[in-house]
Amino acid sequence: MRVFKFGGASVRDAENVKNVCRVLQTVGYKDSLIVASAMGKTTNALEVVVHNYFQNRFDLAESVEVVKKYHFDIVNELFTDKEHQVFVRLKELFDSITYFLLNNKSPNYNFVYDQIVSYGEIISTTILHFYLQECGITNKWIDARNALKTDTVYRDANVNWDITVENIKREINTDDLCITQGFIGSDYNGFSTTLGREGSDYSAAIFAYALEAQSVTIWKDVPGVLNADPRYFEDTTLLQHISYQEAIELAFYGASVIHPKTLQPLRQKEIPLYVKSFLNPTLAGTNVSKGAPLTPQVPCFIVKKNQLLISLSSKDFSFIMEQNISDIFKLFCEYNIKVNVIQNSAISFSVCVEDKFNHFEDLRLRLVNDYKVSYNENVSLYTVRHFDNNSAERILTGKTLLLKQVNRETMQIVTKE
Ligand code: ADP
Ligand code: ASP
Ligand code: MG
Repeated sequence: MRVFKFGGASVRDAENVKNVCRVLQTVGYKDSLIVASAMGKTTNALEVVVHNYFQNRFDLAESVEVVKKYHFDIVNELFTDKEHQVFVRLKELFDSITYFLLNNKSPNYNFVYDQIVSYGEIISTTILHFYLQECGITNKWIDARNALKTDTVYRDANVNWDITVENIKREINTDDLCITQGFIGSDYNGFSTTLGREGSDYSAAIFAYALEAQSVTIWKDVPGVLNADPRYFEDTTLLQHISYQEAIELAFYGASVIHPKTLQPLRQKEIPLYVKSFLNPTLAGTNVSKGAPLTPQVPCFIVKKNQLLISLSSKDFSFIMEQNISDIFKLFCEYNIKVNVIQNSAISFSVCVEDKFNHFEDLRLRLVNDYKVSYNENVSLYTVRHFDNNSAERILTGKTLLLKQVNRETMQIVTKE
Protein backbone atom coordinates (compact mmCIF):
# COMPACT_ATOMS: atom_id res chain seq x y z
CA MET A 1 0.00 0.00 0.00
CA ARG A 2 1.27 3.47 -0.90
CA VAL A 3 -0.18 6.60 0.68
CA PHE A 4 -0.39 9.80 -1.40
CA LYS A 5 -1.15 13.08 0.28
CA PHE A 6 -2.47 15.88 -1.90
CA GLY A 7 -2.41 19.24 -0.11
CA GLY A 8 -4.48 22.38 -0.62
CA ALA A 9 -2.22 23.80 -3.34
CA SER A 10 -2.41 20.60 -5.43
CA VAL A 11 -6.23 20.83 -5.70
CA ARG A 12 -6.71 24.59 -5.60
CA ASP A 13 -8.57 24.87 -8.93
CA ALA A 14 -9.97 22.76 -11.77
CA GLU A 15 -6.62 22.66 -13.60
CA ASN A 16 -4.89 21.28 -10.53
CA VAL A 17 -7.61 18.66 -9.95
CA LYS A 18 -7.02 17.52 -13.53
CA ASN A 19 -3.32 17.39 -12.71
CA VAL A 20 -4.02 14.95 -9.83
CA CYS A 21 -5.32 12.56 -12.51
CA ARG A 22 -2.13 13.02 -14.51
CA VAL A 23 0.04 12.38 -11.44
CA LEU A 24 -1.83 9.15 -10.67
CA GLN A 25 -1.63 7.99 -14.27
CA THR A 26 2.11 8.68 -14.22
CA VAL A 27 3.04 7.02 -10.93
CA GLY A 28 0.29 4.35 -10.80
CA TYR A 29 -2.50 4.03 -8.26
CA LYS A 30 -3.13 0.36 -7.60
CA ASP A 31 -3.19 -0.53 -3.90
CA SER A 32 -2.94 3.14 -2.93
CA LEU A 33 -4.67 5.54 -0.58
CA ILE A 34 -5.14 9.24 -1.30
CA VAL A 35 -5.36 11.56 1.69
CA ALA A 36 -6.51 14.99 0.52
CA SER A 37 -6.79 18.45 2.07
CA ALA A 38 -9.39 21.11 1.51
CA MET A 39 -9.04 22.95 -1.80
CA GLY A 40 -6.76 26.01 -1.84
CA LYS A 41 -7.56 28.39 1.01
CA THR A 42 -10.94 26.80 1.88
CA THR A 43 -10.00 26.21 5.52
CA ASN A 44 -9.35 29.95 5.97
CA ALA A 45 -12.67 30.74 4.28
CA LEU A 46 -14.51 28.33 6.60
CA GLU A 47 -12.77 29.95 9.58
CA VAL A 48 -14.41 33.21 8.46
CA VAL A 49 -17.80 31.42 8.47
CA VAL A 50 -17.26 30.31 12.07
CA HIS A 51 -16.11 33.79 13.07
CA ASN A 52 -19.20 35.34 11.50
CA TYR A 53 -21.47 32.75 13.15
CA PHE A 54 -20.30 33.95 16.57
CA GLN A 55 -19.57 37.61 15.96
CA ASN A 56 -21.06 38.93 12.77
CA ARG A 57 -24.33 37.27 11.80
CA PHE A 58 -25.01 39.86 9.08
CA ASP A 59 -22.16 38.47 6.98
CA LEU A 60 -22.72 34.79 7.78
CA ALA A 61 -24.77 33.81 4.73
CA GLU A 62 -22.42 35.70 2.41
CA SER A 63 -19.34 33.94 3.83
CA VAL A 64 -20.95 30.52 3.24
CA GLU A 65 -21.82 31.65 -0.29
CA VAL A 66 -18.14 32.47 -0.98
CA VAL A 67 -17.13 28.88 -0.18
CA LYS A 68 -20.05 27.47 -2.14
CA LYS A 69 -19.34 29.54 -5.25
CA TYR A 70 -15.64 28.65 -5.20
CA HIS A 71 -16.43 24.91 -5.23
CA PHE A 72 -19.30 25.12 -7.72
CA ASP A 73 -17.07 27.08 -10.10
CA ILE A 74 -14.54 24.24 -9.92
CA VAL A 75 -17.09 21.45 -10.52
CA ASN A 76 -18.71 23.43 -13.32
CA GLU A 77 -15.36 23.51 -15.05
CA LEU A 78 -14.66 19.82 -14.36
CA PHE A 79 -18.02 18.29 -15.28
CA THR A 80 -19.75 19.14 -18.56
CA ASP A 81 -22.77 16.98 -17.68
CA LYS A 82 -24.74 19.28 -15.35
CA GLU A 83 -26.91 16.31 -14.31
CA HIS A 84 -23.89 14.57 -12.81
CA GLN A 85 -24.47 13.40 -9.25
CA VAL A 86 -21.51 15.47 -7.98
CA PHE A 87 -23.80 18.53 -8.22
CA VAL A 88 -26.47 16.84 -6.09
CA ARG A 89 -23.96 15.66 -3.52
CA LEU A 90 -22.32 19.09 -3.27
CA LYS A 91 -25.69 20.77 -2.79
CA GLU A 92 -26.48 18.29 0.00
CA LEU A 93 -23.20 19.12 1.73
CA PHE A 94 -23.84 22.87 1.61
CA ASP A 95 -27.42 22.30 2.80
CA SER A 96 -26.08 20.40 5.79
CA ILE A 97 -23.70 23.29 6.63
CA THR A 98 -26.67 25.67 6.59
CA TYR A 99 -28.76 23.24 8.62
CA PHE A 100 -26.05 22.98 11.25
CA LEU A 101 -25.65 26.77 11.48
CA LEU A 102 -29.41 27.20 11.91
CA ASN A 103 -29.90 24.46 14.49
CA ASN A 104 -26.71 24.34 16.52
CA LYS A 105 -27.18 25.03 20.23
CA SER A 106 -23.58 24.69 21.36
CA PRO A 107 -21.85 27.92 22.44
CA ASN A 108 -18.47 26.16 22.28
CA TYR A 109 -16.43 27.99 19.60
CA ASN A 110 -13.93 25.19 19.07
CA PHE A 111 -16.68 22.56 18.78
CA VAL A 112 -18.55 24.60 16.17
CA TYR A 113 -15.25 25.30 14.38
CA ASP A 114 -14.60 21.59 13.87
CA GLN A 115 -18.16 20.83 12.74
CA ILE A 116 -17.91 23.53 10.06
CA VAL A 117 -14.24 23.55 9.04
CA SER A 118 -14.19 19.75 8.49
CA TYR A 119 -16.50 20.26 5.48
CA GLY A 120 -13.51 21.62 3.53
CA GLU A 121 -11.97 18.16 3.31
CA ILE A 122 -15.32 16.36 2.88
CA ILE A 123 -16.13 18.59 -0.11
CA SER A 124 -12.68 18.37 -1.74
CA THR A 125 -12.55 14.56 -1.52
CA THR A 126 -16.11 14.29 -2.85
CA ILE A 127 -15.12 16.31 -5.92
CA LEU A 128 -11.89 14.35 -6.37
CA HIS A 129 -13.71 11.03 -5.97
CA PHE A 130 -16.21 11.80 -8.75
CA TYR A 131 -13.65 13.45 -11.01
CA LEU A 132 -11.23 10.51 -10.80
CA GLN A 133 -14.12 8.16 -11.62
CA GLU A 134 -14.80 10.32 -14.71
CA CYS A 135 -11.15 9.85 -15.73
CA GLY A 136 -11.53 6.09 -15.45
CA ILE A 137 -9.71 5.89 -12.12
CA THR A 138 -12.05 3.75 -10.05
CA ASN A 139 -11.83 4.67 -6.38
CA LYS A 140 -13.62 4.18 -3.09
CA TRP A 141 -14.51 7.25 -0.99
CA ILE A 142 -13.87 6.72 2.69
CA ASP A 143 -15.09 8.95 5.50
CA ALA A 144 -12.01 9.49 7.69
CA ARG A 145 -14.36 10.16 10.62
CA ASN A 146 -15.31 6.47 10.64
CA ALA A 147 -11.66 5.55 11.07
CA LEU A 148 -9.68 8.26 12.81
CA LYS A 149 -10.94 8.48 16.40
CA THR A 150 -9.87 11.26 18.74
CA ASP A 151 -10.61 12.86 22.08
CA THR A 152 -12.77 15.99 22.34
CA VAL A 153 -10.00 18.59 22.26
CA TYR A 154 -11.64 20.35 19.33
CA ARG A 155 -9.22 22.08 16.90
CA ASP A 156 -6.27 20.15 18.30
CA ALA A 157 -7.60 16.65 18.83
CA ASN A 158 -5.44 13.76 20.05
CA VAL A 159 -5.62 10.45 18.25
CA ASN A 160 -6.81 7.31 20.03
CA TRP A 161 -4.29 5.06 18.35
CA ASP A 162 -5.64 1.61 19.29
CA ILE A 163 -9.17 2.20 18.00
CA THR A 164 -7.92 4.19 15.00
CA VAL A 165 -5.53 1.47 13.81
CA GLU A 166 -8.27 -1.15 14.12
CA ASN A 167 -10.79 1.05 12.27
CA ILE A 168 -8.40 1.95 9.44
CA LYS A 169 -7.58 -1.71 8.83
CA ARG A 170 -11.30 -2.48 8.72
CA GLU A 171 -12.26 0.45 6.45
CA ILE A 172 -9.40 0.09 3.97
CA ASN A 173 -9.25 -3.54 2.98
CA THR A 174 -9.18 -3.48 -0.79
CA ASP A 175 -6.60 -3.38 -3.58
CA ASP A 176 -8.52 -0.57 -5.24
CA LEU A 177 -7.58 3.05 -4.91
CA CYS A 178 -9.17 4.60 -1.80
CA ILE A 179 -9.62 8.29 -1.11
CA THR A 180 -10.08 9.91 2.26
CA GLN A 181 -9.71 13.23 4.07
CA GLY A 182 -6.71 14.64 5.85
CA PHE A 183 -6.99 16.79 8.98
CA ILE A 184 -10.29 15.41 10.28
CA GLY A 185 -11.50 12.67 12.59
CA SER A 186 -14.33 12.21 15.05
CA ASP A 187 -14.85 11.91 18.78
CA TYR A 188 -16.62 9.10 20.66
CA ASN A 189 -20.02 10.66 19.97
CA GLY A 190 -19.31 10.88 16.26
CA PHE A 191 -18.84 14.66 16.19
CA SER A 192 -16.17 15.90 13.80
CA THR A 193 -12.78 16.87 15.21
CA THR A 194 -9.69 18.37 13.58
CA LEU A 195 -6.01 17.70 14.22
CA GLY A 196 -4.70 21.29 14.11
CA ARG A 197 -4.03 23.51 11.10
CA GLU A 198 -1.96 21.92 8.34
CA GLY A 199 -2.71 18.51 9.88
CA SER A 200 -3.27 16.57 6.65
CA ASP A 201 0.36 15.43 6.44
CA TYR A 202 -0.11 13.99 9.92
CA SER A 203 -3.30 12.16 8.82
CA ALA A 204 -1.36 10.60 5.94
CA ALA A 205 1.20 9.33 8.44
CA ILE A 206 -1.53 7.94 10.72
CA PHE A 207 -3.13 5.99 7.85
CA ALA A 208 0.31 4.79 6.69
CA TYR A 209 1.17 3.62 10.20
CA ALA A 210 -2.06 1.66 10.55
CA LEU A 211 -1.75 0.09 7.11
CA GLU A 212 2.01 -0.53 7.47
CA ALA A 213 2.33 1.22 4.11
CA GLN A 214 5.40 0.84 1.93
CA SER A 215 5.74 4.64 1.59
CA VAL A 216 4.05 8.02 1.95
CA THR A 217 4.37 10.64 -0.79
CA ILE A 218 3.31 14.21 -0.14
CA TRP A 219 2.77 16.14 -3.37
CA LYS A 220 3.81 19.78 -3.14
CA ASP A 221 4.25 22.92 -5.22
CA VAL A 222 8.01 22.71 -4.57
CA PRO A 223 10.48 20.11 -5.92
CA GLY A 224 10.94 18.62 -2.43
CA VAL A 225 12.33 19.80 0.89
CA LEU A 226 14.74 22.64 0.16
CA ASN A 227 17.40 24.01 2.46
CA ALA A 228 15.21 27.12 2.92
CA ASP A 229 11.69 28.31 2.18
CA PRO A 230 11.86 29.64 -1.41
CA ARG A 231 9.34 32.37 -0.50
CA TYR A 232 11.99 34.02 1.68
CA PHE A 233 15.36 32.83 0.34
CA GLU A 234 16.97 32.87 -3.07
CA ASP A 235 19.29 30.12 -4.35
CA THR A 236 17.82 27.21 -2.44
CA THR A 237 19.20 23.67 -2.69
CA LEU A 238 17.09 20.51 -2.89
CA LEU A 239 17.75 18.08 -0.03
CA GLN A 240 17.82 14.62 -1.60
CA HIS A 241 17.84 12.67 1.60
CA ILE A 242 17.03 13.58 5.19
CA SER A 243 17.04 11.24 8.18
CA TYR A 244 13.86 11.00 10.25
CA GLN A 245 15.61 12.67 13.15
CA GLU A 246 16.87 15.60 11.10
CA ALA A 247 13.44 16.02 9.47
CA ILE A 248 11.84 16.08 12.93
CA GLU A 249 14.29 18.83 13.95
CA LEU A 250 13.63 20.86 10.79
CA ALA A 251 9.85 20.54 11.17
CA PHE A 252 10.08 21.37 14.89
CA TYR A 253 11.93 24.63 14.19
CA GLY A 254 9.26 25.56 11.66
CA ALA A 255 10.15 24.19 8.20
CA SER A 256 6.49 24.29 7.28
CA VAL A 257 6.80 22.00 4.27
CA ILE A 258 6.23 19.01 6.62
CA HIS A 259 3.86 19.11 9.60
CA PRO A 260 5.94 18.36 12.74
CA LYS A 261 3.74 15.48 13.96
CA THR A 262 4.09 13.58 10.65
CA LEU A 263 7.50 12.05 11.17
CA GLN A 264 7.09 10.20 14.47
CA PRO A 265 4.59 7.52 13.30
CA LEU A 266 6.59 6.97 10.10
CA ARG A 267 9.86 6.62 11.96
CA GLN A 268 8.36 4.04 14.30
CA LYS A 269 7.53 1.73 11.39
CA GLU A 270 10.43 2.88 9.20
CA ILE A 271 8.06 3.96 6.45
CA PRO A 272 9.90 6.22 3.96
CA LEU A 273 8.43 9.65 3.25
CA TYR A 274 8.83 11.22 -0.19
CA VAL A 275 8.23 14.92 -0.76
CA LYS A 276 7.70 15.50 -4.48
CA SER A 277 6.52 18.08 -6.96
CA PHE A 278 2.99 17.55 -8.29
CA LEU A 279 4.14 19.38 -11.42
CA ASN A 280 7.06 17.02 -12.08
CA PRO A 281 5.98 13.70 -10.55
CA THR A 282 8.80 11.68 -12.08
CA LEU A 283 11.56 13.70 -10.39
CA ALA A 284 13.04 12.10 -7.28
CA GLY A 285 12.25 14.92 -4.81
CA THR A 286 13.25 14.37 -1.21
CA ASN A 287 13.42 11.05 0.58
CA VAL A 288 13.08 11.00 4.37
CA SER A 289 14.20 7.68 5.83
CA LYS A 290 16.91 6.10 7.97
CA GLY A 291 20.52 7.09 7.41
CA ALA A 292 22.87 10.06 7.48
CA PRO A 293 21.25 13.34 8.59
CA LEU A 294 21.39 15.30 5.36
CA THR A 295 22.41 14.94 1.70
CA PRO A 296 23.82 17.27 0.55
CA GLN A 297 25.29 18.63 3.79
CA VAL A 298 24.29 22.29 3.53
CA PRO A 299 23.08 24.83 6.09
CA CYS A 300 19.27 24.79 6.39
CA PHE A 301 17.45 28.06 7.06
CA ILE A 302 14.07 28.26 8.74
CA VAL A 303 12.21 31.47 9.41
CA LYS A 304 9.30 32.17 11.72
CA LYS A 305 7.79 35.60 11.18
CA ASN A 306 5.62 37.63 13.50
CA GLN A 307 7.32 36.65 16.74
CA LEU A 308 7.47 38.57 19.98
CA LEU A 309 10.74 39.06 21.88
CA ILE A 310 10.07 39.60 25.59
CA SER A 311 12.71 40.50 28.16
CA LEU A 312 11.98 40.30 31.86
CA SER A 313 14.25 41.59 34.60
CA SER A 314 13.88 41.71 38.33
CA LYS A 315 12.77 45.05 39.75
CA ASP A 316 15.31 45.00 42.59
CA PHE A 317 18.34 43.56 40.72
CA SER A 318 17.84 40.21 42.45
CA PHE A 319 18.72 37.08 40.46
CA ILE A 320 16.18 35.40 38.26
CA MET A 321 16.16 31.91 39.73
CA GLU A 322 14.49 28.57 39.05
CA GLN A 323 11.39 29.57 41.00
CA ASN A 324 10.88 32.71 38.87
CA ILE A 325 11.46 30.81 35.66
CA SER A 326 8.99 28.14 36.70
CA ASP A 327 6.33 30.79 37.53
CA ILE A 328 6.94 32.58 34.22
CA PHE A 329 6.58 29.36 32.22
CA LYS A 330 3.34 28.46 34.00
CA LEU A 331 1.98 31.80 32.80
CA PHE A 332 3.07 31.18 29.18
CA CYS A 333 1.32 27.83 29.35
CA GLU A 334 -1.83 29.35 30.91
CA TYR A 335 -2.04 31.98 28.13
CA ASN A 336 -1.29 29.47 25.37
CA ILE A 337 1.81 31.36 24.22
CA LYS A 338 4.41 29.17 22.54
CA VAL A 339 8.02 29.69 23.60
CA ASN A 340 10.55 29.25 20.78
CA VAL A 341 13.84 30.48 22.29
CA ILE A 342 14.97 31.07 25.87
CA GLN A 343 18.02 33.01 27.04
CA ASN A 344 18.81 34.04 30.59
CA SER A 345 21.45 35.99 32.46
CA ALA A 346 21.76 36.81 36.15
CA ILE A 347 19.04 39.40 36.39
CA SER A 348 17.22 39.14 33.10
CA PHE A 349 15.39 36.54 31.08
CA SER A 350 14.50 36.77 27.38
CA VAL A 351 12.13 34.64 25.38
CA CYS A 352 11.08 34.67 21.76
CA VAL A 353 7.45 33.60 21.61
CA GLU A 354 4.55 33.14 19.25
CA ASP A 355 1.29 34.68 20.43
CA LYS A 356 -1.14 33.02 18.01
CA PHE A 357 -4.21 33.85 20.06
CA ASN A 358 -3.28 37.46 20.99
CA HIS A 359 -3.05 36.86 24.72
CA PHE A 360 0.19 38.78 25.34
CA GLU A 361 -1.42 41.97 26.65
CA ASP A 362 -3.26 39.99 29.37
CA LEU A 363 -0.07 38.13 30.23
CA ARG A 364 1.95 41.36 30.33
CA LEU A 365 -0.45 42.82 32.90
CA ARG A 366 0.26 39.81 35.13
CA LEU A 367 4.04 39.96 34.61
CA VAL A 368 4.44 43.67 35.42
CA ASN A 369 3.48 42.95 39.03
CA ASP A 370 6.79 41.20 39.57
CA TYR A 371 9.11 42.15 36.71
CA LYS A 372 10.27 44.96 34.49
CA VAL A 373 8.91 43.92 31.10
CA SER A 374 10.21 45.15 27.76
CA TYR A 375 9.33 43.69 24.37
CA ASN A 376 9.71 43.98 20.59
CA GLU A 377 6.75 43.07 18.43
CA ASN A 378 6.81 41.65 14.93
CA VAL A 379 10.35 40.26 15.00
CA SER A 380 11.60 37.28 12.98
CA LEU A 381 13.20 34.15 14.35
CA TYR A 382 15.75 32.49 12.07
CA THR A 383 17.02 29.01 12.83
CA VAL A 384 19.99 27.60 10.93
CA ARG A 385 20.71 23.88 11.21
CA HIS A 386 24.30 22.92 10.30
CA PHE A 387 25.35 26.57 10.04
CA ASP A 388 28.63 27.64 8.50
CA ASN A 389 30.72 30.83 8.71
CA ASN A 390 28.48 32.73 6.27
CA SER A 391 25.12 31.75 7.71
CA ALA A 392 24.70 34.62 10.19
CA GLU A 393 25.77 37.19 7.61
CA ARG A 394 23.32 35.81 5.06
CA ILE A 395 20.48 36.40 7.52
CA LEU A 396 21.59 39.66 9.03
CA THR A 397 22.19 41.76 5.92
CA GLY A 398 19.91 44.79 6.25
CA LYS A 399 18.49 43.70 9.60
CA THR A 400 19.10 44.46 13.27
CA LEU A 401 20.26 41.63 15.51
CA LEU A 402 18.25 41.37 18.74
CA LEU A 403 19.32 37.98 20.08
CA LYS A 404 21.67 35.20 19.00
CA GLN A 405 22.10 31.73 20.42
CA VAL A 406 24.45 29.07 19.14
CA ASN A 407 24.93 25.41 19.95
CA ARG A 408 26.69 22.60 18.11
CA GLU A 409 24.17 22.03 15.31
CA THR A 410 21.84 24.98 15.51
CA MET A 411 22.10 28.75 15.46
CA GLN A 412 19.10 30.93 16.29
CA ILE A 413 18.89 34.61 15.53
CA VAL A 414 16.09 37.05 16.34
CA THR A 415 16.00 40.11 14.09
CA LYS A 416 14.03 43.22 13.43
CA GLU A 417 13.63 43.92 9.69
P1 ADP B 1 0.18 21.99 1.09
O1 ADP B 1 -0.63 22.58 2.19
O2 ADP B 1 -0.36 22.28 -0.27
O3 ADP B 1 0.46 20.54 1.29
P2 ADP B 1 2.20 23.75 2.10
O4 ADP B 1 1.83 25.10 1.58
O5 ADP B 1 1.84 23.43 3.50
O6 ADP B 1 1.59 22.66 1.10
O7 ADP B 1 3.75 23.47 1.90
C1 ADP B 1 4.42 23.86 0.73
C2 ADP B 1 5.10 25.19 0.95
O8 ADP B 1 6.03 25.07 2.03
C3 ADP B 1 5.95 25.66 -0.19
O9 ADP B 1 5.20 26.38 -1.15
C4 ADP B 1 7.03 26.51 0.48
O10 ADP B 1 6.78 27.90 0.34
C5 ADP B 1 6.93 26.15 1.94
N1 ADP B 1 8.20 25.77 2.55
C6 ADP B 1 8.63 26.16 3.78
N2 ADP B 1 9.83 25.66 4.06
C7 ADP B 1 10.19 24.92 2.98
C8 ADP B 1 11.35 24.14 2.67
N3 ADP B 1 12.36 24.01 3.54
N4 ADP B 1 11.38 23.49 1.49
C9 ADP B 1 10.37 23.59 0.61
N5 ADP B 1 9.25 24.32 0.85
C10 ADP B 1 9.15 24.99 2.00
N1 ASP C 1 -7.05 22.07 5.36
C1 ASP C 1 -6.30 22.12 6.60
C2 ASP C 1 -5.57 23.44 6.72
O1 ASP C 1 -5.56 24.21 5.76
C3 ASP C 1 -5.37 20.96 6.77
C4 ASP C 1 -4.24 20.88 5.77
O2 ASP C 1 -4.34 21.46 4.70
O3 ASP C 1 -3.25 20.21 6.06
O4 ASP C 1 -5.04 23.71 7.75
MG1 MG D 1 -0.79 22.96 4.00
